[in-house]
Amino acid sequence: MRPPCRPLPADGRFLQAVGPTPLVPVRLEEDGPTIWCKLEFLNPSGSTKDRIARYMLEKAWRLGELCPGGEVIEASSGSTSIALALACAQMGLRFTAVMPEGVTGERVLTIRAYGGEVELVARDAGVRGAVARAEELARERKAFAPRQFENPDNAEAHRVWTGQEILSQVPGGLVHGVVSGVGTGGTVVGLYQAFAEAGCPVTPFVAKPIAGLGCDLECCSFSPRVPGVVDGISKLYREADMPGRVELDVSDELAMCTARALIRRGFPVGPSSGLNYAAAVEASKRLGPGAQVVTVFPDRMERYFSTELIQPRLSARGAA
Ligand code: PMP
Repeated sequence: MRPPCRPLPADGRFLQAVGPTPLVPVRLEEDGPTIWCKLEFLNPSGSTKDRIARYMLEKAWRLGELCPGGEVIEASSGSTSIALALACAQMGLRFTAVMPEGVTGERVLTIRAYGGEVELVARDAGVRGAVARAEELARERKAFAPRQFENPDNAEAHRVWTGQEILSQVPGGLVHGVVSGVGTGGTVVGLYQAFAEAGCPVTPFVAKPIAGLGCDLECCSFSPRVPGVVDGISKLYREADMPGRVELDVSDELAMCTARALIRRGFPVGPSSGLNYAAAVEASKRLGPGAQVVTVFPDRMERYFSTELIQPRLSARGAA
């Protein structure tokens, strides 16, 4: 039988630094809509994944699935691993991240700096290969596997936490559209549930980065990718009940250019924030004047110094 709720280790108090983050109105084009943007890159590890890392680990700790000195193993293309590495460092746990080859050096170095281990699987094996290897390792070493792609606590963290923050920040507590790219889907599913349960007439919009759709802005002569947003992996997203969900295609060039425009406005974001913002502009047009559309800026630009986000002359192949 599992022991009853246990207090977190003393250092777990630092985890309290996650959220609340500001929700700010952002309008990039003079004649464009205003989008409500949640500045999740301000969390301690630099991304929204601090929320799910803290939520999943605290729950496992309380249930007795994690003990002092225990080990956590997770497959992630980056942000979740970095957030887990930081949380494990604070909780006195060991951490191993399994990632496909080709992720940016910044990510690997950050995890190692927090004392985590990194195991790389072949680039061709992709996130799916990383998930399979993480399962194998967790079984072998009897480690705790958060399994972000299927763990309901991932979406739950956004439903009971990020979503409630937004409802208290957006004018009138009213949200008409919520927009996000999908990696695990935890963000869009959890936020949609929070807003729907609060009685908002909300439509969920899913932003899909499409290679090579084109963009007429001058900086976009290549086809960059948007790390963190992956298609078809997440069981959590596949099985989520989101009536009226709308998918919005956004060229990865437009996502990248929009991220650069946001950076020039003083928001130090990564590519997926550009994707989310560009899709939110389209969502706002579809919903019409007066609609309050909310999106998330998931992570920080410093994670992409070696990529074409910051060095536009690099080819997409050199990016994470
Ligand atoms: N942006 C970035 C930078 C990410 O790392 C992720 C998740 N891996 C996402 C967006 C997508 O968020 P979610 O997993 O909640 O769908």
